[in-house]
Amino acid sequence: MKKLSLSTKILIALIVGIVVGIFLQGSPNIANNYIKPFGTLFLNLIKLIVVPLVLASLVVGTTGLGDIKKIGRIGGKTLAYYLLTTAFAVILGLILANVLNVGAGYSIPVDATADVKEIPKFVDTLLGIIPTNPLKALVDGNMLQIIVFAIMLGGSIMAIGEKGTPLQRGFESLAEVMYKMTGAIMEFAPYGVFALITPVVAVNGPNVLLPLLKVIVVVYLACLLHMLIVYSSTLKVLGKFNPVKFFKAIAPAQVVSFTTASSSATLPINMKCVESMGVPNSISSFVLPLGATINMDGTALYQGVCAFFIAQVYGIDLSLGQQVTIILTATLASIGTAGVPGAGLIMLTMVLQAVGLPLEGLALIAGIDRVLDMARTTVNITGDAACAVIIAASENELDRDYKVKETVSM
Ligand code: ASP
Repeated sequence: MKKLSLSTKILIALIVGIVVGIFLQGSPNIANNYIKPFGTLFLNLIKLIVVPLVLASLVVGTTGLGDIKKIGRIGGKTLAYYLLTTAFAVILGLILANVLNVGAGYSIPVDATADVKEIPKFVDTLLGIIPTNPLKALVDGNMLQIIVFAIMLGGSIMAIGEKGTPLQRGFESLAEVMYKMTGAIMEFAPYGVFALITPVVAVNGPNVLLPLLKVIVVVYLACLLHMLIVYSSTLKVLGKFNPVKFFKAIAPAQVVSFTTASSSATLPINMKCVESMGVPNSISSFVLPLGATINMDGTALYQGVCAFFIAQVYGIDLSLGQQVTIILTATLASIGTAGVPGAGLIMLTMVLQAVGLPLEGLALIAGIDRVLDMARTTVNITGDAACAVIIAASENELDRDYKVKETVSM
């Protein structure tokens, strides 16, 4: 047992969890009452690191970048990659939904009702980027606000020179401590992953899944293709980086994102995986938290497929113009989606409203959303990681001799 690497253990835990979940399908209460709490415990443990980790490593990252120009340049490239890949993801989702006729042969009673939550207005999201009270942003775990504050803090520390050094050292130390804590917590990952996946399988048995199997197949296929086509080719062409090496190194983070369905909870392990590929901390600590907050290729793709599915199920033909609207709104909606489980479903309202599709359709998706969430979150965090590698390469800061080592052993 000692010989197994942590990533192998996590993978085994995932498979065992699925098998146990299948056995417990008749009695999901056992899974919910006795196994799920351990998953929640693990989830709480990783969530606990996120805010201090992002703050400290982003401040350190900003000061490490050296000058404001460089921050602007890296920021610009990062945003361009994020936006373009997200728009491509929706297009891919729509193409597959069209070609595979995702909603054909399935129509549902129109009286299905969804528990639709209010979605935040886009303007409010934009205005809310600047925190009026940074401590409140930290307490609330408002990631965008924390990012803005950390960059301003790092920039100002840099600007005052020597006087800022003690504070910079303090953040460096805090960041190191948080990395150490991440490593320690990840030792529990196999148990956490097992406890998270078992109830999902036990509760979402074949009865819930089968009628909507086609949506699941299309979303999973699109997710897979997006990763294989977009990330592999951009890594190869823009980053001159071997995609196989990339996918091997990112696997532990993918299993965690698959089971937690949360980009934000996957952030600590994602940072470790990316750094194991030779990306300097100054870049990963900037690109990844931003990505975990605004870059959601999987979510955008899922929203495209679901919008198309709902239209078909309700017998509505989408024009080309409407599909273009879906591309635009799904890209925006995914940016506004929080990196927590289920957020993408709420933001799907925005896409449906934009093209006048019945919101009741959400109720259909809601039943299988968790299963879709696992796949889309995995794409979300993989896109962030690919971007980090590419940016590091473009800045000539990728340590290519760096041997991919066991990601989380410390
Ligand atoms: N769960 C996703 C994430 O954390 C967001 C979503 O619901 O689409 O990345």
